[in-house]
Amino acid sequence: MKITVIGTGYVGLPTGVGLAELGNDVICLDIDESKINKLKNGELTIFEEGLDSLFEKHTQSGKVSFSTSFAESIPNADLVILAVGTPPHPITKEADMKYIKSAAESLAKHLNQYTVIAIKSTVPVNTGDAVENIIRRTNPTADFDVISLPEFLREGFAVQDFFNPDRIIVGANSKRAKNLIADLYLPFKDRCPILYVSRKSSETIKYASNAFLAMKIQYINEMADFCETSGADIYEVAKGMGLDSRIGAKFLVPGPGYGGFCFPKDTNAMAYMGKFNGIDLSLIETTIKSNERRKINMAKRILDMVSDIKNPTIAVLGSAFKGGTDDCRESPALQIIEIMLAHDVNIKLYDPEAMPNTKAILKDMITYCDSAYEAIGGADVLAILTDWQEFKSLDLEKIKVLMSRPQIADFRNMIDYELASQLGFEVKSIGRKI
Ligand code: NAD
Repeated sequence: MKITVIGTGYVGLPTGVGLAELGNDVICLDIDESKINKLKNGELTIFEEGLDSLFEKHTQSGKVSFSTSFAESIPNADLVILAVGTPPHPITKEADMKYIKSAAESLAKHLNQYTVIAIKSTVPVNTGDAVENIIRRTNPTADFDVISLPEFLREGFAVQDFFNPDRIIVGANSKRAKNLIADLYLPFKDRCPILYVSRKSSETIKYASNAFLAMKIQYINEMADFCETSGADIYEVAKGMGLDSRIGAKFLVPGPGYGGFCFPKDTNAMAYMGKFNGIDLSLIETTIKSNERRKINMAKRILDMVSDIKNPTIAVLGSAFKGGTDDCRESPALQIIEIMLAHDVNIKLYDPEAMPNTKAILKDMITYCDSAYEAIGGADVLAILTDWQEFKSLDLEKIKVLMSRPQIADFRNMIDYELASQLGFEVKSIGRKI
C-alpha cells in the first residue's frame, strides 16, 4: 500500500517506519524543513527505543522517504495518515485544530484517486466531519473517505506498541474505507482486537481513555499521600489493589504527577468539551487540579529538606516526562524544577536523553552535567524525578561521599531504601515512611 504520513513527530515517525516494516511504501511529510533535512540525512529527530535500527533499515531499502512537499507526497497515496500536533489552545485549553485544518487544506488539492484520510492525531469529536468539509470545499471532485484511527502508543515504547497494540480502533462510516484498513492491519488480525465503530465514537474513545488513565494516576497518587499519614506502604497497597482484575495492576505506580504531551492536554480538552456542551465532567476537572497541586507539593517537599541552607545546591536526575523518551513537554520534572527556581537555589541536572530539549527550555537557568555523579557532586539534596532504569543502579556509597548532605527525595522509587537508610541517608519517598 502507498501511504503518506503527515507530521513526523513522536507519533508520525514511528508509525511511518513501522508501516514500512509491514511492507508498505511510506512517505513521511512534514512542514518543518530542518526536521525533514535531518531525516533525509539519516539522522533521527526523536529518541525511541528500537527506532534507530528500523529507521536505518527502511531509509536504506527506500521503503521510507521524507518530503516537505504535498504535491509530491499526496498523489497516488492509498492512505494518508494525519499525525500533526493538536496542542492546547493558550487561552481555552481546547485542542487547537490549526495544524489539522491546514494539513487538510494542503492535502485536498492533490488528491487524484480514491484515498482514505485517517486522522491519527487526538482530535475533538466532530473533527472527522470538519476535515471532510474542508476537503470537499477545497477539491469538490475528490474521491475520498475520512476515518478516525486514534493512536494509543506510549512514548518510550512507540516501536514495541506499534507491533503489539492492545487494540486497534477504527472509526469509519464507509465500507470501502473499512476494507482498506482491514487490508492494512491484516498482519494484526489474530494478534489484537480490531474494533470498528462510528467516527464519533472512535474520536471519543481516545479522549475517554486518556482522561481515565490520568484519573487512575492521580487516584494512586492521592492514595500515596494517604499512606504517608496512615503508615501503610503504597507499593503493597497498589499490589493488593492491582490483583483485582476489575482494577488491573497498570497505572497504579505513584509518582510526581502525570505529564507528557497527551494526558495534560487531553484532560484539558475533554474538560473544555464538557463545559462547551454543558456537561458536568467534574471528575476530570478535579483530576487536572489535583495534578497541578501535586507538582507544587513535590517541589515543596524538596525545598523543605534544604530550608536551613542559604542558596542550597539541588541535584536533579531526570527532566524527561518519563524514562525512555527525550520528550520534556509538560514534564512534571521540569515543572518541579521551574517551581524550585523561583526560590534561591542552584540546580544541577542530568538526564540520559533529554538534555538538548531541556536546554532549549531552561537555557542557562541551571547547570547541565554529563553524568548522574557529576550532578550529585556537592549537592545538599538529590531529587530523582524521572524513572530512567539507569537510576536504579546508582552506587549509594559513592553518592554518600560525593554529597554535601546525605538527603534523597526519590519520587520515582528508584533507590534501595533499606540500604539508603542503613548508610545514613535521609530519604523522602512517596507513599511510605522509612
Ligand atoms: P509532534 O509535535 O511530535 O509532531 C507533530 C508534527 O506535525 C511536527 O513535526 C510538525 O512540524 C508537524 N506538522 C504540523 N503541521 C503540519 C502540517 N500542516 N503539515 C505537515 N506537518 C505538520 O506531535 P506528536 O507527539 O507526534 O503528536 C501528534 C498527535 O498524536 C497529537 O494529536 C497527539 O495528541 C497524538 N498522540 C500523541 C501521542 C504521543 O505519545 N506523543 C500518543 C497518542 C496520540
